[in-house]
Amino acid sequence: MTARSAALFDAARRVIPGGVNSPVRAFNSVGGTPRFITSASGAYLTDADGNELVDLICSWGPMLLGHAHPEVVAAITEAAARGTSYGAPTPAEIDLVAEIVDRTPVEQARLVNSGTEATMSVLRLARGITGRDKIVKFAGCYHGHADSLLAAAGSGLATLGIPGTPGVTAGTTADTIVLPYNDRAAVTAAFAEHGPEIAALITEASPGNMGVVPPAEGFNAFLAETARAHGALFVSDEVMTGFRVSRSGQFGLDGVEPDLMTFGKVMGGGFPCAAFGGRADLMGHLAPVGEVYQAGTLSGNPVAAAAGLTTLRLATDEVYAGLGTRADQLRAAVSEALRGAGVPHLVQSAGSMFSVFFTDADEVVDYAGASGQDTAAFAAFFHAMLDAGVHLPPSAFEAWFLSAAHDDAAIDKVITALPEAARAAA
Ligand code: PLP
Repeated sequence: MTARSAALFDAARRVIPGGVNSPVRAFNSVGGTPRFITSASGAYLTDADGNELVDLICSWGPMLLGHAHPEVVAAITEAAARGTSYGAPTPAEIDLVAEIVDRTPVEQARLVNSGTEATMSVLRLARGITGRDKIVKFAGCYHGHADSLLAAAGSGLATLGIPGTPGVTAGTTADTIVLPYNDRAAVTAAFAEHGPEIAALITEASPGNMGVVPPAEGFNAFLAETARAHGALFVSDEVMTGFRVSRSGQFGLDGVEPDLMTFGKVMGGGFPCAAFGGRADLMGHLAPVGEVYQAGTLSGNPVAAAAGLTTLRLATDEVYAGLGTRADQLRAAVSEALRGAGVPHLVQSAGSMFSVFFTDADEVVDYAGASGQDTAAFAAFFHAMLDAGVHLPPSAFEAWFLSAAHDDAAIDKVITALPEAARAAA
């Protein structure tokens, strides 16, 4: 039964472009009607028709503890009752940043409202510090929708970016060098050609936006060394992985210390809240102490800070261990079902974050590899899972997320749905 979602989608499309406030929610790549969600609790979403769905999107990562965790809701409610925004400093934001400083290598951080703002601001800071213009990013790594990061790769190994969407000027992306991921030769060539002009190299700490494509052994350390050897800053974007793949993030798995980092998603506990941070000598270049301007009316919002802080405080080592166990169980079940139905596939992981590629490749190491998927097979699989009450990310290029609330009953419901969905994909 999806009649109410369908009616809401029609109503939404009349007043909101495509009916959604972020494109992937519209089911464009899988077809059909997105479910309009009216409430959520633990591992489950309830849609407008009253269907209960196991949620494997978790708001694209933030809901590490599951939906409407009672302690998080209590903290939000209590904070909101004391006023929702002051435009002045608050104790809560100190506590949230202190928690980030405690868990990661950053010495100082500044709070912003989205991952996009975090990456946009961190690159301005890097350019301000170095006095250089160019940045290096990888094809398939998504860092939000700031203009200079919406750059597509040109042809060739080390190419200057071309606008990734109408509305971004060629001038903006001319300073963005886009390289194939996991390709050391391309990185070396780019720095050999443009080294003295490069302010920063930014990378997803472990990419999850082309599906999960982990860095090859030693790749992040190589990036850090190469950038520093040329006087550029190494920026690790942990918006997706931070406080999700370990207590700190990818840093907790590979120990590579970045100069600057970005965070979002989990640290906001489901609220618009993100951060960028790094060494104190670098962060000291930010206004009001330093010369690089950056600001925000709602930055450090007390309700968001309460949600984020409570979430992080509840995200103990046991939570991460439990997520790892559940992810192992689910990955194994997905593979077994797809193998049983003879569907070529590949499961790749970064901690408890994983994705399923519908491909006969043995390994996906970059965006070109990720693009070689059978998206029609994924769409058939996706809809069969949705019909059985499992809400997967509606794209073959997205990570699946679990929460601490995904208990045996929720995982069983997913596992039970798999064989039929695998047959649909065959
Ligand atoms: N960086 C990474 C690695 C992301 O995954 C995302 C969003 O998915 C962003 C930045 C942008 O964050 P936001 O959507 O909060 O602007």
